[in-house]
Amino acid sequence: MRYNKIRKMDIANGPGVRVSIFMQGCCFNCKNCFNPETHDFNGGKEFSDETIEHILSISDKEFIKGLSILGGEPMHPKNIDGSGKLAKVFKTRFPEKTVWVWTGFLFDRDLKDKEALKYVDVLVDGQFVEELKNPLLKFRGSSNQRIIDVQKSLAEGKVVVLSDEQV
Ligand code: SF4
Repeated sequence: MRYNKIRKMDIANGPGVRVSIFMQGCCFNCKNCFNPETHDFNGGKEFSDETIEHILSISDKEFIKGLSILGGEPMHPKNIDGSGKLAKVFKTRFPEKTVWVWTGFLFDRDLKDKEALKYVDVLVDGQFVEELKNPLLKFRGSSNQRIIDVQKSLAEGKVVVLSDEQV
């Protein structure tokens, strides 16, 4: 598995100042994707235990409110185990910080039974749809995409969506 880049201080992807990682590889090819350099599964750099250690070390600061995992496609079968391991290790070390994940897959159709979701607080799901693009939306590009409270959704057995005012 590979990743494209890490940001030490990201204020655009999720609430507060966060560490973010963009995983490498995506099969969706959404029209006008914001991040086409992440599509090639062979691009970027190797994702390893050292990458996880690096993320933990740069996240160990009071002002870092959480970890954002984007792509590329962090929930693709080639990437989901690595993304899940990162989320698990991060939540174990920093239970008070949140993990947000962005994916083109759908929570209820594709992901709800995946181990990785046990360690994710918020999932922004669905492909980017150019025709539904709305720059006023928080933390997502098009209105079909949902901001999902993962732990509540798993506990209640239904999709619990958060409004822009709740995040
Ligand atoms: S899922 Fe995300 S990274 Fe993949 S093509 Fe769509 S917008 Fe781009």
